[in-house]
Amino acid sequence: MRYYLFILGCQMNVSDAERLRTVLNGANYQETTDEKSADLIVVVACSVRQTAIDRIYGKLQMWKKLKTTNHNLKTILTGCVLPADKKLLESKFDFVFDIKEITQLPKLITSRDKKQKTRGKKISNYFKILPTQTSKFSAQVPIMTGCDNFCTYCAVPFTRGREVFRPAKEIIAEVKDLIKRNYKDITLLGQNVNSYGKKFTLSASTSGRGWHEASGERNFLNLIKEIDKIKGNYWVRFTSNHPKDFSLGLIKFLKTSKHFAKYIHLPVQSGSDKILKAMKRPYKIADYIKLAQKIKKNIPEVCLTTDVIVGFPGETKTDFKKSCDLFKKIKYDLAYISQYSPRPGTPSAKLKDNVSRAEKKRRELFLNEILAQTALEQNKKLVGKNIKILIEKPAQAGSALGRNYALARTSTLKTVKIYPITLSKGAEIKTGTKKLVPGEFAIVNIFSTTAWKLEGK
Ligand code: SF4
Repeated sequence: MRYYLFILGCQMNVSDAERLRTVLNGANYQETTDEKSADLIVVVACSVRQTAIDRIYGKLQMWKKLKTTNHNLKTILTGCVLPADKKLLESKFDFVFDIKEITQLPKLITSRDKKQKTRGKKISNYFKILPTQTSKFSAQVPIMTGCDNFCTYCAVPFTRGREVFRPAKEIIAEVKDLIKRNYKDITLLGQNVNSYGKKFTLSASTSGRGWHEASGERNFLNLIKEIDKIKGNYWVRFTSNHPKDFSLGLIKFLKTSKHFAKYIHLPVQSGSDKILKAMKRPYKIADYIKLAQKIKKNIPEVCLTTDVIVGFPGETKTDFKKSCDLFKKIKYDLAYISQYSPRPGTPSAKLKDNVSRAEKKRRELFLNEILAQTALEQNKKLVGKNIKILIEKPAQAGSALGRNYALARTSTLKTVKIYPITLSKGAEIKTGTKKLVPGEFAIVNIFSTTAWKLEGK
């Protein structure tokens, strides 16, 4: 029996999919990348953007056709699904289940009853499932799930629920195991990692007796300090952060940390105080700028990235200009710019979506042009320098430059093309006589850059 995973949305969903793989492999299913040959199609959905939901509707047509030739084919929906989307999609799937009920998935698949209910949404059980990574050197480790912030545009508190923190002991054990298995690149995941440990909702019996319980030190900074002490050759990042919870202690730690990348994703969402208030983001833009400047002053080589929404209800041209001014001031390395789309059931969906599609597109492109300039400016600082990179894979022959290259990444997630290389039949990559092994670190000298890619040798 074969299963096909259709994964939408953020890294949290990718992480969920890794746990789904473990459960399905354990139930004697084999993964396929060809949905036409699957007996089971599992959608890890994302309700954060309408475009992701639209993609599911697009796929459903095709899966319906597949069912006419494969009568055993079952379709399952899980992931981040808003109640309103769930209501509309429920009838189109064989089963819908909450990701927290993942341990009961095999029972669900074999059930003939579409209305079969799974029992007990134990998030502690979910966390205990070991992920099946697709990469042999990069891994994601969830440290929490859910969010208490209720930004007015966001689906997450409604789809994933309130914040639940994974016991530190369990997180540290997973990171240690990954390092032992030669993983080099680890990302700690959560919707708002800085709030880790604010409260513990897992009981001692499910969490075990971790250091946090003994010492009472339950915050994010203590967790990452413990991780940084683990011996090995690896780097770690964390995402996502909330500006309101980003402390000076965290900045000082990153400045001197051995393993944590000088990479900070600091979502701003808008450059206008009026819009931030409407979004229920509890900071003023002046405070955000002060924080970003403090980060840059303490960690000059930091790679600062952000999320921003354009066309939020009521965003005038003046409000948008404030986002543009912010981009010019902060000089981000990268930004995820999204056009606002109302999500049913969220508070902002009640506001009039009064910025036209065309204007949202124009604002997105305009901001992207500013970003391209600042990203290039930041990348140029690396030209002429020797930097540590993680080799990922050889690239197809016939690149834009007419030469083969190897793809790699910096600890700050910048893409690097490595020249010159030769590819042997067994896909072995060599530069001169030196072998480049995917999943190993190397030092390259950066000789050129664009806004989005560095080139090194
Ligand atoms: S902090 Fe992030 S995940 Fe939480 S509600 Fe706001 S946007 Fe959503």
